[in-house]
Amino acid sequence: MTTPLQHFIHGRLTASTSGREQDVFNPATGEVTGRVGLASIEDVNTAVASAQSAAPAWGETAPLKRARILFNLKQIMEQQQDALAASITSEHGKVLSDAKGEVTRGLEVVEFACGIPQLMKTQFSDNIGGGIDNWNLRQPLGVTVGITPFNFPVMVPLWMAPVAIATGNSFILKPSERDPSPSLLLADMFKRAGLPDGVFNVVQGDKVAVDALLQHPDVKAVSFVGSTPIAEYIYQQATLRAGPYPLRAQALGGAKNHLVVMPDANLEQAVDALIGAAYGSAGERCMAISVAVAVGSVADELIAALVPRVKALVIKNGVEADAEMGPLVSAVHKAKVEGYIEEGERAGAKLLVDGRGLRVAGHENGFFLGGTLFDHVTADMKIYQEEIFGPVLCVVRVPDFAAAVKLINAHEYGNGVSLFTADGNTAREFSRRIEVGMVGINVPIPVPMAWHSFGGWKRSLFGDSHAYGEEGIRFYTRYKSIMQRWSTSIGKGAEFTMPVAK
Ligand code: NAD
Repeated sequence: MTTPLQHFIHGRLTASTSGREQDVFNPATGEVTGRVGLASIEDVNTAVASAQSAAPAWGETAPLKRARILFNLKQIMEQQQDALAASITSEHGKVLSDAKGEVTRGLEVVEFACGIPQLMKTQFSDNIGGGIDNWNLRQPLGVTVGITPFNFPVMVPLWMAPVAIATGNSFILKPSERDPSPSLLLADMFKRAGLPDGVFNVVQGDKVAVDALLQHPDVKAVSFVGSTPIAEYIYQQATLRAGPYPLRAQALGGAKNHLVVMPDANLEQAVDALIGAAYGSAGERCMAISVAVAVGSVADELIAALVPRVKALVIKNGVEADAEMGPLVSAVHKAKVEGYIEEGERAGAKLLVDGRGLRVAGHENGFFLGGTLFDHVTADMKIYQEEIFGPVLCVVRVPDFAAAVKLINAHEYGNGVSLFTADGNTAREFSRRIEVGMVGINVPIPVPMAWHSFGGWKRSLFGDSHAYGEEGIRFYTRYKSIMQRWSTSIGKGAEFTMPVAK
């Protein structure tokens, strides 16, 4: 029996005290590759105590010194990119090249955070009147927490931790219990980069750990990324938390992302985009395209081009160099996605390619599901309304552009959206009218770069701040305004009127 995967608290691996454990699988083989120890409330208290003890000195460390540690981290991560990617593929299942891309997108946030001395520079107003100056500070909050989903076990923690740490906070990561190993590699890299003990901690666990983190009075902010029901729960718990101070929260949720194909679009490019964005990572991306909106006359041609491409997807163990799509993360999740396919058929959608029953030679116990394509999906169907999070693309036919916009704006999710067109006016109109947080024009997966910010609208994000970029800097700091004057500019006598500039 191997040792279960542990927490990382105050610079070292720490066993769970709960006695509760969970299996960790290789989704390509279906084998149990390890176990993870789930946190008790006591483990969470130990991690928060560590983070709380480290926060004051770290917050006082000069931003340039903090940045140097992040530079070290960047170098270590670049050297260890293959190991990180392999760890993602072995527990998540996505293909290795995609896992490397995930690490790169996480690294970009580390690179962004290396500029923290510049990013924390604030505004100064000289001589607002009577020898008084006014300026702002952005100060760290203290102990911050990130709760992350299974589908990006490196990138999503790195949306949060580098920004939280660069701004002078300590950080506790509660990764998904389904793929816990990459978090421990990250912890080791932070330590080797020179980060003081307690500034970055990992608590493995489930709802018990999450609830204990949310209730702990020393936790000052929580970033969550995951499904919408849990995002809503986290946001409500955080904002309702009893105690003298509110818990700052941002909770990014699920998605149903549409890609609109206009009749004037370059069809070949639109089809390439749909295949990559719907089936890449087996559809287990919050920015995956799960609905193609075919406008007017384009529908039949689009379907004719999609069907052979979906049938030809190369689906195998993600470690194989030519694999385009790997397995789903778990047997339970696979069954859930298959349930949606049944549901779609029952509702009357036309199933053109059915991924169920796929056999991958030598991997008969893996959690594989083939690419699936539905046509004639309508807005009243469950497969249209709900997030499936699998390799299932639904085609909805609409008569014109206005109907496409109306359809998308009526959906409860508003994470990402894409439009394929050759017309600049249509593109401009779409970008301005669509009620979605991230928009791509002839770009299928518009994930903003590290110095912009990531986040959806409607039920795809609870809270006011998007992740990373400038919104991240604001989320992880408290704004303070300072006014100052010195004795020669101070007049005599008490003033009883509202102070105004003189
Ligand atoms: P999930 O909501 O099941 O889990 C996310 C985190 O919440 C995990 O750490 C998990 O341990 C914890 N959790 C699960 N159930 C909980 C409960 N009852 N109480 C408290 N904590 C709980 O999500 P997932 O299946 O790991 O990830 C997939 C989901 O994440 C999809 O819905 C996807 O769209 C979403 N996602 C969103 C974004 C985004 O930026 N909006 C990015 C990635 C993933």
